[in-house]
Amino acid sequence: MKKIYLSPSSQPANVYAGLSTNEQEVCRGIARELAAHLKRCGFQVKCGDYGTMYDRVKESNEWKADLHLPIHTNAFDGKVSGTRLMALDLTGKGFQVCQAILETLDKITPGTSSNITANPGLYEIQAAVAPTAYVEVDFHDVPEVAKWLTENKAQIGAAICQGICRYYNTDYVAEGETQPTPTPEPTPQPSGKIEGLPVVKSGSRGDAAKILQGALIAQGYPCGSSGIDGVFGAASLAALKSYQKAKGLTADGIAGPATWGKLLGV
Ligand SMILES: [Zn+2]
Repeated sequence: MKKIYLSPSSQPANVYAGLSTNEQEVCRGIARELAAHLKRCGFQVKCGDYGTMYDRVKESNEWKADLHLPIHTNAFDGKVSGTRLMALDLTGKGFQVCQAILETLDKITPGTSSNITANPGLYEIQAAVAPTAYVEVDFHDVPEVAKWLTENKAQIGAAICQGICRYYNTDYVAEGETQPTPTPEPTPQPSGKIEGLPVVKSGSRGDAAKILQGALIAQGYPCGSSGIDGVFGAASLAALKSYQKAKGLTADGIAGPATWGKLLGV
């Protein structure tokens, strides 16, 4: 079970454009949503919605996380927006996780100026032992994007979770679904009987009579000169009784569940 350490922003001073909230509050909210999604998908999660980035990196390293995931929102000039991800380099595991998350997260974020860059100098990327995918969801200094971020924390968490599932090649379990637990098909116990087939007896006509005649003939009990004619007459009745007697069935000349079962080998 992979261990994912979530390290949301602890920057309350980064206010959201036009709103009375900030990067810390929203990113911690996204992290809590993401934690729930990840747990549902079978991951082990520590959600570091406390302390400083130094505390969180230390905790992530001591816990021996498999993936370290800082969660931030971005700011630039109040105009540009998009999903930005950062990794140690553009080849390693952190970068591959960034690629997987970009595919799922960029689909839902409003901004279009999205990319992945190498940022080996960034403290959390440098100091975390686990591969690190540093997520900047979108830009909170663009008013409509800021509003979108505050209103879509669960969806953002789900999209990041889908990316992580994709990276680890595991199924994303949507909310309300349960982990698929394979339930084996119950094995039917042999009863020696076949229920549901028509009773065939003296005078029966039709397809069931034909099937019974065919089965009797195949087992060495000829049903008269007209063979499989669908008319269960005297010769067929005699064949059936001989068969029943030979197989230890009640030799009543009536083919019911036990006779059908024996004939068809259940
Ligand atoms: Zn930040």
